[in-house]
Parts: sequence; structure tokens; C-alpha cells
Amino acid sequence: MDQTATLPEFKYHPDPVATGVVVRDEDAPCLSCNRIRGYIYDGPVTSEKFHHLTHCLCPWCIADGSAARQFGAEFADSGTMEGVSQEVRDEIAQRTPGFHSWQETQWLVCCGDGAEFLGAAGSKELKTQFPDAMPAVRQHLKEDFDLSGAELKEFLAALSKDDQPTAYIFRCRKCREYLAYVDET
Ligand SMILES: [Zn+2]
Ligand SMILES: [Zn+2]
Repeated sequence: MDQTATLPEFKYHPDPVATGVVVRDEDAPCLSCNRIRGYIYDGPVTSEKFHHLTHCLCPWCIADGSAARQFGAEFADSGTMEGVSQEVRDEIAQRTPGFHSWQETQWLVCCGDGAEFLGAAGSKELKTQFPDAMPAVRQHLKEDFDLSGAELKEFLAALSKDDQPTAYIFRCRKCREYLAYVDET
């Protein structure tokens, strides 16, 4: 195992270890570079050629695009992104670790760029980890779920990181505003 390796940087997913999609594994080989590098990607992956790539790719092969090229793999769905360049879509779909969600993932956009994904959150995580994202979650529930007053409060309290409904927290790389959406099956 390569002890000196530091994880690659992902500008749209700054801490994939914290969000849980890159995990420590000292035995898992990467199918792309055939090395055991100590970290493996555990997030969602779709592939044109292979079907079993979960827990089989290292973050370095995601970062440099070799996993995407070799397996026709995509890690996030960038199809719903509006107002960003093809370059940004490609980087998010092919060279950025994705995240698990109940339905198809949406990568949020702000200021003409993809936002950075900070993590999934329930009511507990919103209070402790992402208090500044609370207004974005409330606004989303008002606008997209048509909730207000006691109903909104109840819905917020029911949010869970591990059970639905779940909030997904992003932050704009340019204006630094928090962005969020909520998803359930
Ligand atoms: Zn690799
Ligand atoms: Zn912005």
C-alpha cells in the first residue's frame, strides 16, 4: 500500500471521505490502475461496459479521468444541470465522486458553475454541521414542496441522513451561498 498518498482534490466534492463515498480499505484493489491504494470509492457509479464497479475504483483514477475513460463510467448525473458549460458537466459526471440519494441525484448550480457538494443531512446534521444551510433547506421546502408553518417545521424535524427524506447540502464556489434540495423515494 502506498503510505505517502494524499487524496486527490475534487473541486466539486471537497471532502468525499467526510461524505462517506471514499472509504479507507487497505485490501481493495482498483480495477482501473490495479493498485491497492488504501482508499476506495464507495459511491454510485454507472458504466457502459461493466456493472460491478462499486468498491472497485480508487479516488485517483476518478480524479484523473482514467476510470471514466476505461469503463465508460459516470459518478454523478449532470443531466439536470442548467446554465453550466459542457466542461463543468463532464468534470462532475466523470471526474468527481458522486453521492447516494433516494432518487436520481441532482447536482446544484449557482453563478454559472457547479456547486460543491458538502454532504447529506438530516435534522441533526443541519443543526450541528450545516446550521448556515438551514435557510436554503427551508426555502426549498417552501418553493418545491409547498410547505409552510407547522407543516414545514414537522417536515424539517423528520429529515434524516440515513432514512428518507434527506437534505443534500451544497455551497456555491463563487458567491459562497448555501444551496440545498430534499429528496425521498
Ligand atoms: Zn485506481
Ligand atoms: Zn453563487
